[in-house]
Amino acid sequence: MRLAQRTSWISPSATLAMDALAKRMKSEGIDVIGFGVGEPDFDTPDNVKEAAIAAIRAGFTKYTPAGGTPETKEAVIAKLARDNGLSYEPAEIIITVGAKHALFGAFQALIDPGDEVIVPAPYWVSYVDQVQLMGGKAVVIEGAEANGFKVTADQVREAITPKTRALVLNSPSNPTGAVYTRDELEAIAAVAVEADILIISDEIYEPFIYTDAGHVSVPSLGPEVKERTLLIHGVSKSHSMTGWRIGFAAGPSPIIAAMTKIQSHSTSNPTSIAQKAAVEALTGTQEPVRAMVREFARRRNYLVERLRSLPGVQCALPDGAFYAFPNISAAFGKRVGDREITNSQDFAELLLQEAHVALVPGSAFGAEGYVRLSYATSMENLKRGMDRIAEFWSRLE
Ligand code: PMP
Ligand code: GLU
Repeated sequence: MRLAQRTSWISPSATLAMDALAKRMKSEGIDVIGFGVGEPDFDTPDNVKEAAIAAIRAGFTKYTPAGGTPETKEAVIAKLARDNGLSYEPAEIIITVGAKHALFGAFQALIDPGDEVIVPAPYWVSYVDQVQLMGGKAVVIEGAEANGFKVTADQVREAITPKTRALVLNSPSNPTGAVYTRDELEAIAAVAVEADILIISDEIYEPFIYTDAGHVSVPSLGPEVKERTLLIHGVSKSHSMTGWRIGFAAGPSPIIAAMTKIQSHSTSNPTSIAQKAAVEALTGTQEPVRAMVREFARRRNYLVERLRSLPGVQCALPDGAFYAFPNISAAFGKRVGDREITNSQDFAELLLQEAHVALVPGSAFGAEGYVRLSYATSMENLKRGMDRIAEFWSRLE
């Protein structure tokens, strides 16, 4: 079968692939502990579920406008005003089928073959593949561990060429949990303004910050930054709604109009019922979000302490998101039975086979030498999983 060339420019999502493998092993009766996928283990809050049930009962089950209903857009506008002090018009908002598809639509609207997008590593898996799928080139710059896995304004400046269309920022970060400070963001944004490139700011982990610093939304840095920023967001993580598939983007109206046109020929619209649920998530009580964040803070401290107790492992305390990203390169060159560990992929495969713990190798995020553990799982799973990892680690020779 002849497939389009573009299919060879990408690989399957490593995070979803690891989740599928762990779930398959579980269905075969193997007691796998999953630290793989980044998905809150909490149920969707009841008020949100009730809004969807009411929508079904009211017959709100038909096509909606391609870019989302006016009501959902107003809910997004209200959220951005309430939490971020931002002011947007409906023409600057699109509701999408998850944040992933907001990014997909953005890259479709922005990238011609050969165009470049600057992506700081460690990066979330889909940025690079989505850019490549459009025929673009992801220019990866590395956030050093010593700098909290964050890139600097100088690095961004050096990566800009005449072909640069956009810079991706993701704070709080998946996979490292790094949170950029206001000063750091201001310095990077100044470079983007000077070079007149777009910032695609993925802020989907906004509520998950465990320090007093709080979230700094990139478009709030000033009018010159706002007019060059496409904000990507959604309710998947904040309201534990991964399966509902509602994301959104806010930014310059020409980009939003292009994304809406593309969406009208692709998904038609985000699911009507899920939009009603998202309205309640965004405008109703935020207490379930706060409760989830409190619990994640507890888990983060536990997980990082356990990881640090493994001889040779370094692990930064992540300020945000729900991932730990330890440096496990001390395992390289060591063996388990007759298998040698040479990279993070080997480590993840062996750990799954030998200890039945699923995590994601750092190489999937453009950072060899690390693994990502999601702590969006119960405290009990964290304890059992870490006991297994500690036992596995002690067997390396
Ligand atoms: N951005 C980041 C950084 C993510 O980790 C994810 C993973 N869910 C997404 C976007 C996509 O979110 P959604 O599930 O809403 O498509
Ligand atoms: N974003 C989550 C993760 O990184 C979910 C899977 C995905 O969409 O990649 O695990």
